[in-house]
Amino acid sequence: MSQINLTFPDGTVKQFDSGISVQEIANSISISLGKKAVAGKFNDQAVDLRQALVADGAIEIITKDSEEGLNVLWQTAAFILNEVLADKYPEMNFGEAHADEHGFYLDTEKPGQAQLAVTDFDDVSAAMQQVILANEPIEFASLSQADALKLAGNDPYQKELVEELTVDGQVAVYQHGDFTSLAYAPVLAATGKVKIFKLLSVAGAYWKGASSNPMLQRIYGTAFYKQKELDAELARRQEAHERDHRVIGNQLDIFFVDPKVGAGLPYWMPNGATIRRTLERYIIDKELAAGYEHVYTPVLANVDLYKQSGHWDHYREDMFPPMDMGDGEFLELRPMNCPSHIQVYNHHKRSYRELPLRIAELGMMHRYEKSGALTGLSRVREMTLNDGHTFVSPDQIEDEFKKILDLMIDVYNDFDIHDYRFRLSYRDPANKEKYFDDDEMWNKSQKMLKSAMDDMGLDYFEAEGEAAFYGPKLDVQTKTALGGEETLSTIQLDFLLPERFDLKYIGTDGEDHRPVMIHRGVISTMERFTAYLTEMYKGAFPTWLSPKQVDIIPVKNDLHLAHAKDLQSRLMAHQIRVEIDDRNEKMGYKIRQAQVNKIPYSLVIGDQEVADNTVTVRKYGEKETETMAFDDFVTLLNHDIETYSRK
Ligand code: ATP
Ligand code: ZN
Repeated sequence: MSQINLTFPDGTVKQFDSGISVQEIANSISISLGKKAVAGKFNDQAVDLRQALVADGAIEIITKDSEEGLNVLWQTAAFILNEVLADKYPEMNFGEAHADEHGFYLDTEKPGQAQLAVTDFDDVSAAMQQVILANEPIEFASLSQADALKLAGNDPYQKELVEELTVDGQVAVYQHGDFTSLAYAPVLAATGKVKIFKLLSVAGAYWKGASSNPMLQRIYGTAFYKQKELDAELARRQEAHERDHRVIGNQLDIFFVDPKVGAGLPYWMPNGATIRRTLERYIIDKELAAGYEHVYTPVLANVDLYKQSGHWDHYREDMFPPMDMGDGEFLELRPMNCPSHIQVYNHHKRSYRELPLRIAELGMMHRYEKSGALTGLSRVREMTLNDGHTFVSPDQIEDEFKKILDLMIDVYNDFDIHDYRFRLSYRDPANKEKYFDDDEMWNKSQKMLKSAMDDMGLDYFEAEGEAAFYGPKLDVQTKTALGGEETLSTIQLDFLLPERFDLKYIGTDGEDHRPVMIHRGVISTMERFTAYLTEMYKGAFPTWLSPKQVDIIPVKNDLHLAHAKDLQSRLMAHQIRVEIDDRNEKMGYKIRQAQVNKIPYSLVIGDQEVADNTVTVRKYGEKETETMAFDDFVTLLNHDIETYSRK
């Protein structure tokens, strides 16, 4: 019998008889590994335990307690869901069953009928439980493509999947009783191995993610080996829901998106507009103090500008199509502000004396993000970036880079953001399409970024293929409140655009020199940053950012409203955002409403307060109240606002 050589993760190479299964390999290593094994990985491809191996390659055993082991469990639960639905609804069509980060999903379609809904979950779950209790083997088999197509019947999605999954005329499948499913990924060997599962939600999902395809009904669920792991996951989901900026954005009337008007085009309601205006004023003031000059430039420009900049060649799929003005002119909505700021630089002859020249703008831009990627305010199609471009001489790069980093860290402290890491984003040298081709420039600028970070003693990790098309970046990857990670801030070195636009400055020698451009964004787009803060603060914005800062509650309107109005105008004179709750409701109700609306301070005004010119203050989230002189309250409030206090 012929032999094959298998390489294990620790580098050892062992010889086996060709045709050995993954399970047999696990058994040969140890009895306990044989028991814990749920699947294998052959040359980085997940494979079933029963898969016979007939070639040399890299092998890894996936065990039940690993993250990938959980995927096998989820895939099995999805298989059982598929079986039950196929049995219950013979006319139902099915997309692929998938494991994702927190569980599994299965795409379904009932042609011409009401789709599956959450109200069906009890029935479906009960049927799944039956299959699990029966604890029967799930067989791993192979069918000819013709047989697999026969099984797919009229289901257009299954037919397409059969074509996709055919290897050498054969299609791998799993079978349990009369039910056959395509083998999308390994599943466990028996139905009884899925012990604890839960169906969670349904949502529309386009077939293959393309909005030109039919919309299927996606069923989400999860499964675990232990009840307490499921409980933890359900608690995590609840917390994620409560923090979701789309949920809070609706509760606190911050923004909305109406697909009828346009997907990814948010409307900022007065509360959201207040947060945004406060952020804009804050960052402009910070930047003015750091030596930036703010400008306003148009969102539209002749498409030739983006041809010259390279966006047309390298970034077009993210851009809105140009507008044909009918007279030979084509106007483009800008996807980035850099070419605009280059025009500002080039408007005057520049001298070394002016460098570093720091041009900044809250620049509105448009990007045609895929419809499936759009998310509330965090990924939109119209956005306003806290953008800035510094033009420096080559010997100023490092110093300016450090100054920008200092500014970022300072800003992060004001917002109480501490959970982030630095990523140095390099090009993928193999991708000649996306990144312009100049090895020397890439090597030089990537090295420069790295040495500046080393100099500052800052930790970072490196990622290939994450650079901008014109140069490498430092990205600040912040942990989101929902456990993900996203880029908030970025600093990007650019030797390319100065070439393309023939930028110059007159040096000390009286000759022309080429400046280097540094692109940077500190607080990202107003949209993404507001989403991020909403989730981080769970809607309880610190006083300085809160849409409403003070809620005045008169004990009795007829006795105390006039005084409350007087306090309101005195607070407004101090630029405090204050409202009076003069509804004919009970006091306790109004106090609770102030909490629900997450207003930092509520003031109760009764006889005593009117007589003494005091206020009784309750801070958001606290039970205790404190009575103080009105002027002391104003001092407290101003201190809170000036120090960006979160308390
Ligand atoms: P991403 O990888 O998130 O798509 P990018 O690398 O294309 O971003 P840049 O061109 O560097 O982003 O844009 C600057 C910043 O603008 C990003 O760091 C991000 O915080 C924010 N941003 C980018 N795209 C969007 C969007 N569609 N909606 C909201 N904010 C965005
Ligand atoms: Zn730029």
